[in-house]
Amino acid sequence: AEAFIGAVARGRPLNAWLVETPDHAIAAAEAADRARTEGALLPLSGVPLGIKDLFCTAGVATTAASAILDGFVPPYESTITAKLFGAGAGMLGKLNMDQFAMGSSNETSAFGPVVSPWRRGNDEAALTPGGSSGGSAAAVAARMAPAATGTDTGGSIRQPAAFAGIAGIKPTYGRCSRWGVVAFASSLDQAGPMARDVRDCAALLEAMSGFDPRDATSLDLPVPAWEQGLSADLRGKRIGIPKDYRVENMPAEIDALWQRGIGFARDAGAEIVEVSLPHTRYALPTYYIIAPAEASSNLARYDGVRYGLRDLPDGANLQEMYAATRAAGFGAEVKRRIMIGTYVLSAGFYDAYYTKAQKVRALIARDFEQAFAQCDALLTPTAPSAAFGLGEKSDPIAMYLNDVFTVPASLAGLPAMSVPAGLDAQGLPLGLQIIGRPLDEQGVLNAAL
Ligand code: GLN
Repeated sequence: AEAFIGAVARGRPLNAWLVETPDHAIAAAEAADRARTEGALLPLSGVPLGIKDLFCTAGVATTAASAILDGFVPPYESTITAKLFGAGAGMLGKLNMDQFAMGSSNETSAFGPVVSPWRRGNDEAALTPGGSSGGSAAAVAARMAPAATGTDTGGSIRQPAAFAGIAGIKPTYGRCSRWGVVAFASSLDQAGPMARDVRDCAALLEAMSGFDPRDATSLDLPVPAWEQGLSADLRGKRIGIPKDYRVENMPAEIDALWQRGIGFARDAGAEIVEVSLPHTRYALPTYYIIAPAEASSNLARYDGVRYGLRDLPDGANLQEMYAATRAAGFGAEVKRRIMIGTYVLSAGFYDAYYTKAQKVRALIARDFEQAFAQCDALLTPTAPSAAFGLGEKSDPIAMYLNDVFTVPASLAGLPAMSVPAGLDAQGLPLGLQIIGRPLDEQGVLNAAL
């Protein structure tokens, strides 16, 4: 724990941590020492973790990287962090992220962007660690933490894992409890681990998963022994290559990465089959209707009364207090999502946008079902590029396009993982994505191994 606490302090210029909690990590290390002498070690005894600031942590400030939660100290612990601490893990601190997990570069944080520990060749320009779990990705990549929690609504575990050269898995929707995780888009939000390799992800996911009566969408299923079940042997498995992911203007190095991945799968004994997911091109517009719609509903609770910030101008009435609080507390991207969300849910446009998007979502899920009749898992690039520079993508649409490969699995609720798969010509990490059948985290982990 002490080595990591030192690394956290040295790594402060990366701006990955919003709160440091060294005492928590040390207490877990001391408990681990006692457990060792008593022969009572737990699965994660003494492991010091970084916790994305979307997870409520009892007695420790939680802001979702938004000014509107300024001063909020949860009186309760999220189910996921409670499970991790119950398995012996400690907390090094709370990790920076895109505000309310809305973003792909960590630049929407109210506390400034996280800087990736990676550089493009000899160029000193600061790069994004990806987002929204950018603090988690940077902390693990810079060896400030052995692992971290992330959340993924449309790619926020997988894309930062790819950009930072680490592994991360989003399990099947419902595996990890959302209780105590600040809500973005509830039908999409899933937590998962981000770590150096597949094995660590398997061990952490085991500790994080499981039924929780406090989350109505939690799956009441036993948690498989994923770590024990790991096998890199893919003989008899069919890996599908969705031809519709060959998007226009795909950089040659992403195509080369994909070919390399196909080679890895063949070498492990898998049979490669081409499959089709014909509604892929509608996934991004569908996601950017459904996610903001749910966000606009979830974020209505930040009214200046119940949580965090309250801006009460002299003589203001209740409505004016709401308006002032939200104007001051929400960042620009959050406001944009709320406006898109309330627009697509408004009486005049509900059918044209929201209902239509729900129908397309069902078609996208059916595409996957049909593809999984022909293969056991899908292999794709995680993102259409390596990490880009901070400030490089100022157009929101250009930013949204970065999620093209990750949102389809989110819309379908499928387990999906990003694994490091080499470096590009400028020395930046690239990631490959494995998408699995519902509940087949084992198949995903094995293909990734
Ligand atoms: N980049 C996507 C968005 O901005 C996904 C975010 C996420 O998965 N939390 O919505």
